Amino acid sequence: QGRDTYQFYSERLSAAVQRRLEIETGLRRALESDQLNLVYQPKIDLGTRSISGAEALLRWESPDLGNVSPDEFIPVAEETGLIIPIGDWVLRTACKEAAAWKKLIADPVHVGVNLSSVQFLQGDLFNKVENALAESGLPAGLLDLELTESVLVANPEETISTLNRLKEMGADVSIDDFGTGYSSLSYLTRFPLDNLKIDRAFVTNLPDDENAVAIVRAIISMANSLNLTIIAEGVETENQVSFLHALGCQVGQGYLFSKPVESAQFVKLLTKDRG
Ligand code: C2E
Ligand code: CA
Ligand code: CA
Repeated sequence: QGRDTYQFYSERLSAAVQRRLEIETGLRRALESDQLNLVYQPKIDLGTRSISGAEALLRWESPDLGNVSPDEFIPVAEETGLIIPIGDWVLRTACKEAAAWKKLIADPVHVGVNLSSVQFLQGDLFNKVENALAESGLPAGLLDLELTESVLVANPEETISTLNRLKEMGADVSIDDFGTGYSSLSYLTRFPLDNLKIDRAFVTNLPDDENAVAIVRAIISMANSLNLTIIAEGVETENQVSFLHALGCQVGQGYLFSKPVESAQFVKLLTKDRG
């Protein structure tokens, strides 16, 4: 920092910088080299126990780094802008695969796609969604867009107008990771939302942790009064299912029901589910 000074770098810092660089470099090639893949995690109706939809989750198998978690590479993709082409690919692929399920299974199941705030800020998100639907033949009513509160905070006016257009077209909108961020009541009323996903952090601590119970109870009653469908993330035990269902939560997602699986495997689960 300036002349005649010197600095110490910790080895750990430079290892982190190195890793970040490897991820960025690798990610630049990931799309064209076919290293990205989508897996699908079923969403289960807690009343009937049948599959109501699936969330598309991105996987990256790098030839140099092995499997890298989306928690690690998505932030890099967002910082570098790579999330734009990657997000386009996710949207198109998820719509295409969900349209294929529709041909195989009479009962419709929706597909959830995670969107980053960077994709909203870029502007032509509406057209991209419209194109992905047209190209795949998936009805808009079977697409569920999952976004976190950070999306709503980043650019509220633009976001409201984009969301309104997406909803007019028939798509659903879900608020993701609820409870961890701003969790503002005004967001829930100002934005056109259909579903609210309670973050895994709270679900994990049910039913023993009193604070988690209080928060989950409050979120569910609030969301129910606003006519939002409530989805519990990270459901791992039957105990959690009975507890959540008793409180008025309609849908669950988690390892208890299934881990995220390849599209072909999801079709098998669906076929079995629909008898
Ligand atoms: P998320 O949207 O909250 O997705 C749920 C995460 O919880 C997934 O992690 C899923 O595998 C994991 N999970 C589901 N059930 C359980 C459970 O019962 N127990 C535990 N311990 N974990 C469970 P994953 O696939 O590693 O994704 C992490 C995050 O990366 C996602 O969190 C999402 O924020 C982001 N992400 C994934 N795919 C995409 C994508 O296509 N686009 C964008 N923008 N973000 C994505
Ligand atoms: Ca999600
Ligand atoms: Ca989530």
